[in-house]
Amino acid sequence: MMPTYAYRAVDKEKSCDHCGSGFEIIQRMTEPALTSCPRCKNLISRVLFAPAVVIKGSPLAETDRKIKEYEKEGKWSHAAELADKEAEKTKREDLKTRALEDYKKAGYNFDKYDTDT
Ligand SMILES: [Zn+2]
Repeated sequence: MMPTYAYRAVDKEKSCDHCGSGFEIIQRMTEPALTSCPRCKNLISRVLFAPAVVIKGSPLAETDRKIKEYEKEGKWSHAAELADKEAEKTKREDLKTRALEDYKKAGYNFDKYDTDT
């Protein structure tokens, strides 16, 4: 079985649609990591995450992907809500933390419960 690797543009300013939002590629473990985008040739770096998380088509991976998508688009409140909901359902602490972070980025302030910001 060959592992899937995810890559993302190092500099988002200099990226194409392909690497700007990240892409996945199947590579042999012995193959060297890609350093430039196959399309725009700009620098990319491997995104590290536990292989177990990358289960294609599983609801969990789908949700994670969706959250990531919202985050990339800067839709922090969307990402937060989704992560929050998923955290409730799955009891995943990492998602809970993520939801909090996304809420903060969305402008919510949990330290003071101040919604004026
Ligand atoms: Zn590219």
